[in-house]
Amino acid sequence: MTADLQSVLEQYAQLAVHVGLNLQPGQRLFIARAPLEAAPLVRAITTAAYQAGAKLVSTMWEDEEATRLRFQHAPHASFTEFPQWMADAWLQATKEGDAVLTIRGQDPDLLKGMDAELVGLVQKVRWQHLRPALDITANNGTNWLVIAAPVTSWARRVFPHLPDDQALAQLWDAVIHMCRLDQPQPTVAWETHLAQLVARREAMTARQFSSLHYRGPGIDLRIGLPSDHVWVGGASVTQRGFSFVPNLPTEEIFTLPHKDRVEGVVSASMPLSYGGTLIKNFKLEFSKGRVIDFSAQQGVEALRQLLASDEGAARLGEVALVPHDSPIAQTGILFFDGLIDENAACHLAFGSAYPLSLQEGAAMNAEAFMAAGGNKSLVHVDFMVGSQHLDIDGISADGSVQPIFRQGNWAFDVEGEGE
Ligand code: ZN
Ligand code: ZN
Repeated sequence: MTADLQSVLEQYAQLAVHVGLNLQPGQRLFIARAPLEAAPLVRAITTAAYQAGAKLVSTMWEDEEATRLRFQHAPHASFTEFPQWMADAWLQATKEGDAVLTIRGQDPDLLKGMDAELVGLVQKVRWQHLRPALDITANNGTNWLVIAAPVTSWARRVFPHLPDDQALAQLWDAVIHMCRLDQPQPTVAWETHLAQLVARREAMTARQFSSLHYRGPGIDLRIGLPSDHVWVGGASVTQRGFSFVPNLPTEEIFTLPHKDRVEGVVSASMPLSYGGTLIKNFKLEFSKGRVIDFSAQQGVEALRQLLASDEGAARLGEVALVPHDSPIAQTGILFFDGLIDENAACHLAFGSAYPLSLQEGAAMNAEAFMAAGGNKSLVHVDFMVGSQHLDIDGISADGSVQPIFRQGNWAFDVEGEGE
């Protein structure tokens, strides 16, 4: 790493607390998930949170080794077990309006070789228990944030030819760059970037395309968009009325597809790490919004389990646009982590749609939301389809066609760009 680690941790903590969570004085901070190896970062965040006036910071630690040991040693029939207290803790924190932080960082191939059915089951049981809390955060019931922390097992997978210490340092360098911590004033850099995302999403919302047409290698897909869809991304606003940025880094703007109007074929442009299993070179065929056929070079069983999670898991809940010239894509590195890779490329998501990507969606009950075209599912899993070869057209209700992406980048300008 080029920079001194302690000052990096402090800067990253400031970014998470002030730009990401926008932690309010007197608020409690619930760190819902943190890898043990990220303890130095968690301590820096804890310090920054108390300095910002947090009343209490508490952390739920996660040990990936223990996760794997369960698959190696637990009784086969025990995989529907879940610690209910953990789900209760998430739910109570979100209901009481605590800020919620999730820190990702694990070996993307942690459960390689384990029984795919059990891996799928554990993910599904986890979604089932956490769904009530996730529904509150998905509706911005409180300020929440997901960030990534470099850990050795993950760094090893991203830089397999380097010794551990160098791999970890390289991963830190990448995170520093994509979080704009290498800019003279990271906070100012983020303000500028977030303003550009606002201009993009407003331009797209105003156009109200009836569908998007994706073309690229192994891709010919038409994605219907519901009327009154809203493009969101960058900063969000809590129900209490203050802004926050739910993902750092973030480069995407997204909305919801119409759950019944997706037609054609799409090939993933990057592997998908799902619950500790890598799914590689997969291809999907859609009809009337549903996956009707699929294949994968590796991890096809995990993909089958994912799609079979429930009725909504084989339909789309998100369509996100990320230009290929974004800082993450420009690293040219595959991170095998959803949070980072999804901000390097245009992506889609299996499963639930965000109610906020439909006008009045947050106020609708499940039936009304689905009638308007929104998808409901326990799962929400992003997968990447973007590359420098992707072209996207926007098609209006009158049939007119407008270029949106050409060769992986925006095909039109908005105000505030070009600096
Ligand atoms: Zn996304
Ligand atoms: Zn997503």
